[in-house]
Amino acid sequence: MTDPAASPYRPAIAPPSPLWRRPTYGAPWVGPFSPPPRPRVVRSLLLPVLMLAMMALIGYAGFRISEHTGIAALRESGARQMALHARGVESEIGKFTLLPRLLEMEPKVMSLLETPSPRLRREVNLYLDGFNDRSGSRVVYVIDPSGRVQASSNWDDFDSYVDEDLSFRAYFQDAIVGKPGRFYGIGSTIGESGYYLAHGLKNQGRIVGAGVVKVRLESVEQRWRDAGLQAFVSDENQIIILASDPAHKLRAVTPLSPQKREKLALSLQYHWWALTDLKTLRREPLGPGEELITFPSERRAPGGVRYLALSQPLADTPWRFTLLLPLEEIRRNATSHGALAAVLFAFVSFLLIAWNERRKVIATRLAAREALQRANNALERRIAERTADLRASNARLKAEIREREHTELTLRRTQDDLIQAGKLAVIGQMATSIAHELNQPLAALRTLSGNTVRFLERGKLDVASANLGTINQLVDRMGKITASLRSFARRSDPSDSRASLTQAVDAALFLVEPRKGKGPLTLIREFADCQLAIDQTRLEQILVNLFSNALDAMQGQQERVLALRGEAGDSHYEFHVRDNGRGLPPDTMPRLFEPFFTTKPAAQGGLGLGLTISASLAADAGGSLTARQPDGGGAEFVLALPLLPTETPPHD
Ligand code: ADP
Repeated sequence: MTDPAASPYRPAIAPPSPLWRRPTYGAPWVGPFSPPPRPRVVRSLLLPVLMLAMMALIGYAGFRISEHTGIAALRESGARQMALHARGVESEIGKFTLLPRLLEMEPKVMSLLETPSPRLRREVNLYLDGFNDRSGSRVVYVIDPSGRVQASSNWDDFDSYVDEDLSFRAYFQDAIVGKPGRFYGIGSTIGESGYYLAHGLKNQGRIVGAGVVKVRLESVEQRWRDAGLQAFVSDENQIIILASDPAHKLRAVTPLSPQKREKLALSLQYHWWALTDLKTLRREPLGPGEELITFPSERRAPGGVRYLALSQPLADTPWRFTLLLPLEEIRRNATSHGALAAVLFAFVSFLLIAWNERRKVIATRLAAREALQRANNALERRIAERTADLRASNARLKAEIREREHTELTLRRTQDDLIQAGKLAVIGQMATSIAHELNQPLAALRTLSGNTVRFLERGKLDVASANLGTINQLVDRMGKITASLRSFARRSDPSDSRASLTQAVDAALFLVEPRKGKGPLTLIREFADCQLAIDQTRLEQILVNLFSNALDAMQGQQERVLALRGEAGDSHYEFHVRDNGRGLPPDTMPRLFEPFFTTKPAAQGGLGLGLTISASLAADAGGSLTARQPDGGGAEFVLALPLLPTETPPHD
């Protein structure tokens, strides 16, 4: 199979792969293994017509061959049959051939012919009568040279030939000149048909008259009829003189010309018979002495009855014997043979068609399998290609992942460094105030220690002891400041994500204490202690940033309020840091969390990283940091952080 692009054949599976395509809009899907399209409708209409035509042709050929063979066989057997029956007719006639000669041997007959007398005639009449009886002939008579009948065996019958002038009869004319007279005719007296055998009677070499024997051959016809034989004998004029079928008798085998017909009528050979032609429907000459004749038959078949007519001349006569062999059976056989041939052809054709169809189905299946295999191979190829691609992109992705992981690590480190830098920046910002904070106790310590020395020298031990107690408190306070600074400066540990809110707020407030500045500050604490999922130091860092900013924003105000409120959600805790400072102008709001965005003067050491780092730390812990402008003025930052699952902090 062939052109994969044009076929009505469709396989059971039809994957819309590149191997399959739709040739035109509305056309069926076609496969690569399909055969070229055929006008199926035309073929399916033509085939039965062709088959029927072929069946008819082969049936007819079978019929003709069978008929031909049958006729050939019949001709062979018929020829033997014909020879046999012709022989029978010849011997029947031959029986009487010598009879007229015997009359020569009778002196009375010869005397009558030479010297006729009534007495002699009587004697000869009687003699002929006896002769006729013994020979079995119909009539025996003698004719004188003038043609007149001198004596006859039927002398005393009403149809006696005696004295009749028969000089016009051909058999007499032949006999009187010494030729054997053979003649079939119908008697002129009573119109009885018969075969006349005449012989010139010689006396001392001279013909003195003619002896005639009339024989009837009806026995031959009877024998034919008894044997169921269809035959006839025609004479020199082609007139049927003996026939098994009486209807054929005295009919012309071949059509007579008008002249011939007139001549025969005048000769009275057949008396007054009309001598019509033999009634046939069709005659087909096959060869010399062979002919197919169809006789009309109202009784049997409308198409007539067909015979094979075989004929041969009969010896010693100018006649022909014709045997009619019926072809009905041959025709019947030929018809059944023709039908058989047609049926056989149909059967073989059906077998061939079925075989061809099966072959086509197998071929289609094979082609489909091949196409499927091809499609499969192509698919496998593509899969292999795709797998290779995928493998390559997988390797690429892995490399990218590795790179990203590395970048992320670097980023995280950088972020940690940044956070640390942020912390240090806060510490840096607080450095002055911390130094101030530490300087005060240091100065007090210096004064107190000096005083204590003097009080000890003076022996005022109680005052020295009290001073030492104060010195102790001051040292404790300084230690606390440095401890909290150390703790704040420590690098955070993201893996330890647990923080106490209260602790973180307290630590952050302690750290920003030095930045509180002068003047009253109202601190509102409305939050519960809760455990949050974030590193303690990180939370402190966020809060230190928020508190520092709030304190910075309220710097120089008479009335300063820092409100810390808490609000527990399902999974998060919202911590609100609100101040009544200068607030967040609209142009600042969107840039608050941008790195390095600051509005603080250089003296305040603003880096613009505090909020950025705080938001990043909150996001890292799974929370968020947002800012808003509350209705009453000032600024409010909302820190939302995930609650640790086990803890359910009570509302403040
Ligand atoms: P820095 O404190 O170094 O300036 P931040 O990121 O902490 O950096 O703050 C960025 C800016 O946001 C501040 O410079 C300030 O203008 C503004 N800001 C932060 N908090 C407040 C607040 N409570 N009230 C008013 N402005 C604030």
